Amino acid sequence: MQQRRPTSLHVCVLGAGIVGLATAWQLVQDGHSVTVVDSAQAGTGASAANGAQLSYAYVQPLADPGIWSQLPKLLLARDSPLKLRPQMDPQQWAWGLRFMAACRASVSAGTTASLLALAAESRAGFDHLLAREDIDCDFSTTGKLVLYPDAASFAGARRQLALQRSLGSVQHALSPAEAVAVEPALAGYAAQMAGAIHTPDECAADCFKVCRELQRLLQARGVRFVFDTPVTRLVRRSGRIDSVETPAGPIEADAFVVALGAGSQQLARPLGLHVPVVPLKGYSITLPATAAAPRVSVTDVARKVVFARLGERLRVAGMAELVGHDRRIDPERIRSLLGSVREVFGEIAPATGVQPWAGLRPATPTGLPVLGRLRGSPVNLFFNTGHGALGFTLAFGSARRVARELGASLRPAAAALAACSA
Ligand SMILES: Cc1cc2nc3c(=O)[nH]c(=O)nc-3n(C[C@H](O)[C@H](O)[C@H](O)COP(=O)(O)OP(=O)(O)OC[C@H]3O[C@@H](n4cnc5c(N)ncnc54)[C@H](O)[C@@H]3O)c2cc1C
Repeated sequence: MQQRRPTSLHVCVLGAGIVGLATAWQLVQDGHSVTVVDSAQAGTGASAANGAQLSYAYVQPLADPGIWSQLPKLLLARDSPLKLRPQMDPQQWAWGLRFMAACRASVSAGTTASLLALAAESRAGFDHLLAREDIDCDFSTTGKLVLYPDAASFAGARRQLALQRSLGSVQHALSPAEAVAVEPALAGYAAQMAGAIHTPDECAADCFKVCRELQRLLQARGVRFVFDTPVTRLVRRSGRIDSVETPAGPIEADAFVVALGAGSQQLARPLGLHVPVVPLKGYSITLPATAAAPRVSVTDVARKVVFARLGERLRVAGMAELVGHDRRIDPERIRSLLGSVREVFGEIAPATGVQPWAGLRPATPTGLPVLGRLRGSPVNLFFNTGHGALGFTLAFGSARRVARELGASLRPAAAALAACSA
């Protein structure tokens, strides 16, 4: 049974991805009782097989002035990591216009500063969990190398490094030879890079395993999980949400947190709320790691592919497709990821045991997540969504922020009610 303080609330968290579960964890730490609802099982959405990088110091948003010079190649190349399927959806077009506006240098720099602050809070939150609990998730702190193919992109990266350093990040610009000294598995690729940015204390972990461990810890603390149950409607009465509708019947609570990833917008729309989140599809493969596989996380900017070591496995992820909610796995994309492994690290991929995956990043135009109450939203409805390519990295920080806002706005009323009935 969950212990409830007089001022504690019953909070219903919608979504059992890394963001919803981290939120549930924080709410339990704050003394609330929690129910988590998901249309599937814990960690089976975008959190299932993502790039695995905890990218605390390297948060450059996709909406960046550098995107314009890359766009012709990204749109025209046959094997481009970017794919757009424009739809007759005004929300998608509005998102595109806001994305273009967010690419201005001043907006992008402001976004970077906000993301770095949130990432630092998230690192503190996840480190606290790892220090207190026995979490089996292939966690490592082996650092990260971001590889740049030419002088122009490396010069841009050094400018971003200067900005991130001024905001507290510890990072170094390396020559190709220095990058190979940090990760010898890159020896055959040195001629293809102009340089690399090294962040020595960056981490990696298996996001799915973290989700399953959080589920275990939360269940042990009495949190109720309602799985395989889609939420079909938020029911508003007198300026509040009093329940959510599901095929298994309504679920009532004092407060609700929407952490539905790429599914967040559909549920908010009937309330007249606009959540600027679109699904940005990506792919990954997970392979058994041979002795020659890298130990340091690597991001290859030329191919827009990330590599992370997870114990005895290597995770490789990439691609960004604006194609709606289609989660089908295109075999061509899997071949392309395997090709990237070969080009960057040589013949390290085994012939069998490759696990393909596709998932939908919940992407906002700026890259900043949607946290807390929205303008015009019911008093007890909070959002924690839109983390794009950084949801694993930011989950514990945004959980703290949303739980703080929820407690600050609803606890005084709960305390007054408890005092009246005492
Ligand atoms: C290819 C790829 C690589 C990535 N690499 C990284 C990385 O290296 N580092 C990083 O930090 N991030 C990375 N990300 C981003 C990260 O995976 C996401 O931002 C994060 O998983 C989002 O978590 P979430 O909990 O918001 O969404 P999800 O994990 O998608 O969870 C949402 C949950 O809501 C449920 N749901 C949806 N609609 C409903 C409904 N109506 N009713 C009930 N339940 C519903 C779903 O079943 C799902 O379980 C990557 C993403 C992709 C696709």
